[in-house]
Amino acid sequence: MAGRRGGQRAQAPPQLYQSAPHQSEILATSANGRRAAPTTSRIQTAAQTSAYWQDDPATNTTLEADNFSYGMGDTSLPVDVQPPPPVILKKTRNENSDYLLKAFMEFCDEFLDEMLRLEGHGDPIGYTKCAGCAEIAPTFRCTHQLCHGLQLFCKPCIVREHKVLPTHWIEEWQGEFFERCSLQKLGHVIQPGHPPGYNCPTASNVHKDFCVIDLTGIHTVNVRFYECDARIKHRQQLMRVQWWPASVKKPQTCATFAVIRLFQIMNCLGKIAAHDFMRSLNF
Ligand SMILES: [Zn+2]
Ligand SMILES: [Zn+2]
Ligand SMILES: [Zn+2]
Repeated sequence: MAGRRGGQRAQAPPQLYQSAPHQSEILATSANGRRAAPTTSRIQTAAQTSAYWQDDPATNTTLEADNFSYGMGDTSLPVDVQPPPPVILKKTRNENSDYLLKAFMEFCDEFLDEMLRLEGHGDPIGYTKCAGCAEIAPTFRCTHQLCHGLQLFCKPCIVREHKVLPTHWIEEWQGEFFERCSLQKLGHVIQPGHPPGYNCPTASNVHKDFCVIDLTGIHTVNVRFYECDARIKHRQQLMRVQWWPASVKKPQTCATFAVIRLFQIMNCLGKIAAHDFMRSLNF
């Protein structure tokens, strides 16, 4: 009879658990998207019985040897402590670019001195005489870096140098420090539409509360519109100096083309809201 030997049941080799093979199914749609075509594939093969279990346990004499051990080795030997491998740092190629802030650290005092120096008069050659008329002891300078550097001017000269730049901030020396002031307080008047320096005889009264929004902030300036050509409205005179009026009839507020362009870029690329942008200008 099959399965019997000498009247006893033959010992069957142990069997490893065999998991059922897994299958994956991928649904692909047809070109028009109206039909689904499933594709089935096997992703795991059945486990195989190892050769160890196929051996007859009766012939495995390893377990019966005198020196057999389940240990990992002879622990009586002294432990050979090896020093950790040395860490070799790669030599920097350029100290300025690899450790940028570290390169600045040793010059902290120097940079601080230079920052403090900018709050003072600077070189004597720059503050003893007005850069425009050589008058002694000028007290005004422009904070715009690209305007006149840090040269000092007298009051008439600083106003004259800013005929078409009414949105620059001016600083006045108070004896120990500079204090910010506006060109409007110094008597600056801008006349859009006519060339700088030309005083139109038909110009209107000075508009003293005209608000201009520019890159340098929000300013109140003196504006005088000309009336020699009635066809040209105030809003058109503003547009001709690249100021966008906030209203069409008797505008009292406008924004420069430059600040509108900056807001467009920061709004589109930096997601800056109009309210936040205006807050940043009103400093
Ligand atoms: Zn001067
Ligand atoms: Zn200036
Ligand atoms: Zn005119």
